[in-house]
Amino acid sequence: MGKTVVITGVPGVGKTTVINGALAALEKEGVSYQSINFGTFMFEVASQEGIASDRDEMRRLDQDVQRRLQRSAAQGIAQIEGNIIVDTHCTVSTPKGYLAGLPEWVLRELKPDIFVLVETDEDQILSRRLSDASRVRDMDGYMGIRDHQQFNRSIAASYAMYSGCTVKIVRNADFLLDKAVADMVEILR
Ligand code: AMP
Ligand code: MG
Repeated sequence: MGKTVVITGVPGVGKTTVINGALAALEKEGVSYQSINFGTFMFEVASQEGIASDRDEMRRLDQDVQRRLQRSAAQGIAQIEGNIIVDTHCTVSTPKGYLAGLPEWVLRELKPDIFVLVETDEDQILSRRLSDASRVRDMDGYMGIRDHQQFNRSIAASYAMYSGCTVKIVRNADFLLDKAVADMVEILR
């Protein structure tokens, strides 16, 4: 049976960077994972339907629409065999509140073995968001980012209860990307 590792973190925490670093290191050891981006699965459907023109628009769509895209992404990802890493969100910050990234019907499809929360200090996330011109990041303040990270930890506990996955916190602090990559390698190996 392949292993399913779900990797989450608030926007701008650097989860994609950590994943890419870990996968490059593991390739040298002959350990392979297919890396899957949940948002890309959702966006493929959303753009085909003409309801979103970039991935950052999706969290502002109607809740029902987001849930429909989420369900179809989970069903698509569940078909993939072997070891997979799913790059996604613990919760999505929407105008109407936090939307669970892995409600019960998504957990049932994905069956995660390990659930990773990539975290760092709020001020670091804030400055990373400000310097990332490639994305339309929410302009949360320091407290908003703190609330989001706290809420994610709480909801991760419920994911562990539902699915029996372990929950691992990986810190991706400024100037310590190597440490975060090494921790991630340890989890995936
Ligand atoms: P990302 O590129 O990882 O920031 O994901 C882009 C967008 O995809 C997010 O802003 C969300 O709108 C959506 N998304 C990703 N994962 C999930 C999920 N598990 N549930 C709902 N929406 C998600
Ligand atoms: Mg990303």
